Amino acid sequence: MNNEQLTVSFSLRTKLKSKILVIYTGGTIGMMMNKETNALEPFPFDDIYMHLPMLNLVNAEITVKEMLPLIDSSDTNPQFWVRLATLIFDNYKDYDGFVVLHGTDTMAYTASALCFLLENLSKPVILTGSQLPLGVIRTDGRENILNSIEIAAAKQEEKPRVPEVCIYFENSLFRGNRVYKDNAEHFNAFHSANYPKLAEVGVRVKYNDAFIRQTTDKQLILHTKLDENIAILKLYPGITQKAMRAVFNTENLRAVVLETFGSGNAPSNPEFISILEEAVNKGIVIVNVTQCKGGGTVEIGRYGASVLLKKIGVISGHDITTEAAVAKLMYLLGEGLTNEELKYYMGISLRGEITV
Ligand code: ASP
Repeated sequence: MNNEQLTVSFSLRTKLKSKILVIYTGGTIGMMMNKETNALEPFPFDDIYMHLPMLNLVNAEITVKEMLPLIDSSDTNPQFWVRLATLIFDNYKDYDGFVVLHGTDTMAYTASALCFLLENLSKPVILTGSQLPLGVIRTDGRENILNSIEIAAAKQEEKPRVPEVCIYFENSLFRGNRVYKDNAEHFNAFHSANYPKLAEVGVRVKYNDAFIRQTTDKQLILHTKLDENIAILKLYPGITQKAMRAVFNTENLRAVVLETFGSGNAPSNPEFISILEEAVNKGIVIVNVTQCKGGGTVEIGRYGASVLLKKIGVISGHDITTEAAVAKLMYLLGEGLTNEELKYYMGISLRGEITV
């Protein structure tokens, strides 16, 4: 790929254990202040390793590539996810693990997308970033990068400790498709309400093995088609029919993530229900995902307020995050599935994204 550029490759110790590819995509971690505008902007990668001389002490061989153009992660999109997955796929055989430096704002979406695009993944892909740029003295980026590299390089009986897509942030390792960003200020910016941490870093790295995916002997498969014809509709008391119709009348719409209340509840008034029913009858798949960040799962039918949703064919997203639901729908629709197949796969766990 032309716009990925090999930036630097340095081997660190005589006894090399793991080869790690660090992919720098942008985000706060590598930002600097533009003196004219006073805004944070990405800077070229050289400045990152200049700020991390201790990388020389890590027991791994590290190669760094930048994915150009460097972006604020607010500019992430499905094309970017496919480029990133392809870069990992193309380098898969040559490395033991991957660390992706990424902005925090949409990191949970990118992690979710990578989970689905990389089927049969058996090596660590760890996304990390920081709240303060590496150039700032109190940066959290230094620890985040070093610990991510250490975890990506970690092996047990020759097998990677964490062979899945993860997010590492502020001493915690999470499954990538279970996480959401919940704080724009604190160093611990991410949370996984419905799935335990995969590891916690203190004096030692404590791996939560029972919750980590196993390696597979199956060959890695790269998926490159994501269908963007989806929407998210967040319910709120007083939502108008006009607003709802605007979403459901979107041209070529295939599926909607319906963010409901509590355990999957929604208004029961007939006008509201009939708009949803019309959409289902038009072939739009509606997935019920709760606005509650934690505390379990959508249980359509637990309250009367959700019984009607079930009756008209809205499907349960179980305990999936909105971020993972978006990625899963784009991926499944990209695979060209029928609606029945789509509904079936939304109801089962493909990459550990739901608990069923
Ligand atoms: N706006 C930045 C980004 O997501 C924030 C960050 O990196 O934390 O790219």
